[in-house]
This record gives sequence, C-alpha cells and structure tokens, in this order.
Amino acid sequence: MKKVIIRKTEEIENWRRNINSEINFIPTMGNLHNGHIKLISTAKNDNSNVNLVSIFINPLQFDNKLDLENYPKTIDNDIKISFSNGADAIFIPSNEDIYPPNNKNIKFLKAPIELSSALCGLNRIGHFDGVCTVVYRLLNLIKPKNLYLGEKDWQQLLILKNLVLRKKLNVAIKSIPTQRDFDGIPLSSRNLHLSKKERKLIKFFSSELLEAKKNFHQDKKINLNEIIKKLSAKKISIEYLEHLHPHTLQKARLEDNISLLAGAIRCGETRLIDHVFLMKRRPIIAIDGPAGSGKSTVTKLLAKKLKLLYLDTGAMYRALSWLMMKESIDYTKEEKLENILKDISIVFKSNTNSHQDVYVNNYCVTEEIRSQKVSSIVSKISSIKEVRKFLVEEQRKIGESGGLVAEGRDIGTTVFPHAELKIFLTASIDERAKRRKSDKNSKESQEIDLHTLKELIKKRDFEDSNRKISPLTKANDALEIITDGYSVDEVVDKIIELYDDKIPKETEIK
Ligand code: C5P
Repeated sequence: MKKVIIRKTEEIENWRRNINSEINFIPTMGNLHNGHIKLISTAKNDNSNVNLVSIFINPLQFDNKLDLENYPKTIDNDIKISFSNGADAIFIPSNEDIYPPNNKNIKFLKAPIELSSALCGLNRIGHFDGVCTVVYRLLNLIKPKNLYLGEKDWQQLLILKNLVLRKKLNVAIKSIPTQRDFDGIPLSSRNLHLSKKERKLIKFFSSELLEAKKNFHQDKKINLNEIIKKLSAKKISIEYLEHLHPHTLQKARLEDNISLLAGAIRCGETRLIDHVFLMKRRPIIAIDGPAGSGKSTVTKLLAKKLKLLYLDTGAMYRALSWLMMKESIDYTKEEKLENILKDISIVFKSNTNSHQDVYVNNYCVTEEIRSQKVSSIVSKISSIKEVRKFLVEEQRKIGESGGLVAEGRDIGTTVFPHAELKIFLTASIDERAKRRKSDKNSKESQEIDLHTLKELIKKRDFEDSNRKISPLTKANDALEIITDGYSVDEVVDKIIELYDDKIPKETEIK
C-alpha cells in the first residue's frame, strides 16, 4: 500500500473510502520517541488493519502558553519514524483544520469531573477538556476500529475510555505499558528540556516509586509520608503524590487488589508525571453460569490465551460426588461425610495433551465424573454446607496468589468476591441442551436424547439456583454475556476486551 501524508480533513474522508480496511489510530503530538514507536508497532503487529498516525499539537490542552510555545517540533523526523515503524498514513492537520473558525460542528467537550478533578486535573485547569475535545473530533473524522494509547498518561486513558462509553463510540481502546528510558524515567517529549541535574532528580523520583512498589510486594503497605520525606530531602518539588483506586481515582481501599501510586513533580519549567501499579496478587477472573452455558470451553481457551491457570470448580464437586457414589456413602450421615472430607485429595494435573486431568486420591476420574450418574447427584451433594465449606477453602488455596480464571456457580459471589473481572455466562435452555448433546467430552450426550437432556439441565438449574448456601446467581458487579448465536472465539475475545479494560498492561511486567 502506498504510504500517504494527509494534511486536510476533507482528504481523510476520501482516503478512508479508498483503503477498504479497518483503521488503527495512533494519535500523537509529535516529537516521537520509543514510546510512540511502541504504540505504532503494537498496532502493526496486532492485526492487518491500516495504521494511521496523527501529529497535532492541540492548543486546547495546554494550560500554560509557554509550554505550548516550547513544545518540541520535529515533524520531518516524526514522518520518517512513523513510516519506518509501521504507519501507512500520517495525518498532519493544521489548527484551522481541526478547529475551523466559526464551524458550529465542533463540540467543545468537558471531561467528567470525577476523573478530571483528581491528580493532574487539580493544577491543569481545562487540560482534560481539551484532550476530550480533540480526540472526539479526530475519532469522528477518522472512525477507527482501534485507538492506541499509552498507560504513561493513565488518567488521560481513563478519561478517554469514559468518553468512548459516554458518546457510545464504536472504537476499542488498546493500551501499552509506560515505556522507560535507559535510566528508568518514563519517556516523554518534554524530557528534551531537562538539564542533567533535573534529569537526575527525576530519576530519583521514578526509582522511589519503583522502590515503593518493591516494598509493597513484600509487606502490602504503602507509606506516602515516607516517600514525600525522601523526595523533599532531595529538594524535589512535589505537585502531588497519591495512592488511589486505579479506575475511580478515589482513595485506595484496603480491599483493592490493584492500586495506583501516582505523582507529579516540577523540575525548573518542566512538570513530569510518573506512576506504578501496586498489586497484592495476580488478577482473577470469575466465570459463573448455569450448566451448558459454554463456561468450560470458554474458560479453558481464555486461560490459554491469557496464560492464566484454569480452575474448574464443578469438577471438584463432581469428583467428590464420584467418590461418595463409588464408596456408597450416605451423604446425609454427618460423620461419614466428615471422614471422607478429612482424607480426600482432589488434584488437577496437566496431561500429555495439555488438558487437565482430575485425580481423586491419586485415581484419575476425568472421564467418570462426566457421567449422567454423577450429574444426577452432584447438585444434591454440592448443596451440603460442609461440602461447600471444604471445597471453597480448597479453591481459595489454589487461587491464593491469583493468576487464574475460575469457573463455577459461586465464584464471583463467594469464592473470589474480589475478582477483578466477573462474568455471568448464560444461554437459552435450548441452546445449552443442544451444546451438551454435541459435546463429545460429555458422557451425557451419548447416554440421553435431547429432550431428556433439556429436562435434566432444567432440574439441575433449579437445584443450583434454589439451594440455601451460595446458590447460582449473578454477582452484583458481574457482567452478563448471553452466548446464543456467538462463537466461542467471539465470547473469548469479548472477555479479553473486558479484562484488558480492567487490568493495566503494566501489571504484567515484573
Ligand atoms: O460445572 P459443572 O456442570 O461441572 O458443575 C457440576 C455441579 O457442581 C453443578 O451443577 C453444581 O451443583 C455444582 N457446583 C457448585 N458450585 C460451583 C461449581 C459447581 O455448586 N462453584
């Protein structure tokens, strides 16, 4: 494809009509560095869409005239860098193009107060309104499928995600972790203005944040005053240093697994921001839903794609039921149940096909637990208080350090109520019965006809949803996905999109 430079807004429409492809959009203010290069190359490697980089210094987002005048301008080099790293087109509009005088079509937007009054918004009045206005204008012109943004400007990223939701824009936001220079400071066009001495101070600030993150991993505590004291001792002028919830930007709470430690400092005329994410354990995804909703297939693929551990809690209830059946144990007798729970070991092991096998007391039961006989008693057994207490504890042990996707009936409500992402997966009863019938791994599908299968699923749904302890129900903060008519890949991609939205990419970096 011929690489093009577009300078007029009218040309954008023509170009869009001719390319015959979806667009990845990478907005920049120029003076491109490795952070921008990473955005462009990520877009290029993500998919086969056409990549458009825009270079526009947006006057509306500068609260300081001098800062605007001094903003580094290196357009020839930017064009070279963009094209050689994967841009197919570069949009370099003028001020008049983006903000034509007397054009009533320009919407001057306000950023949401909850997000824009914290952190940088405190001192940069109008900055985020300017960001929203220009990005909204560019998105309406370019109509991209994906918008690539850096996590370095985390607050800006949140505000733009909010803009996309608020304005119901059909664009997916993809983020990349903060890119750092050789000495650890975040890459920024404004670094160009730093003297050697200033750079040293900023390096100290960034390394203090990283140090705080290291300490946090050990004792799970953060002491803002101590960090402020250390920075002040170096005569670093701190604009703010805050420990916040990463999405609401409200004060971090004890129960937050991921939190944000963010700061801004001033060095001479230059103001710099940096942050780290603090994480107590790796993320957890909870997937609940009724029988046959596609949980297992979706969860397995999701775990593989996101490199998370897969935990099938239903298999644990089935394994226990299988043992009770095999030993002809009357589960209504309390002391018999106690004995069995005292000694039972339920373990998952990867087999040679990279699937999981389930072992009960060292005996492989992967296939046997899927029989109709087990299915017919598992709901009864799973409604027993002692059984639930025992298995929930086992499941929590497995998920102690996170990094897993667990499926079941009570994951989001009981087992992992603080999971970062909760999905309630469901489908119509007809669809679920059809899926079970065509499931080659399910013994039920070979043993019974479609109509009976449907009745049995309904019965199990009823029992699971109406038991006294942790019945199957959607957690308040779970997102429901009705899977009728969607392929497994489509559902998995949707969940990955939701996961990416919740979990900063930076948390994946050690
Ligand atoms: O998901 P699967 O169909 O294998 O689950 C079997 C049964 O185990 C469910 O019908 C339910 O009674 C029980 N179960 C549960 N809580 C979970 C997972 C499964 O009660 N977290």
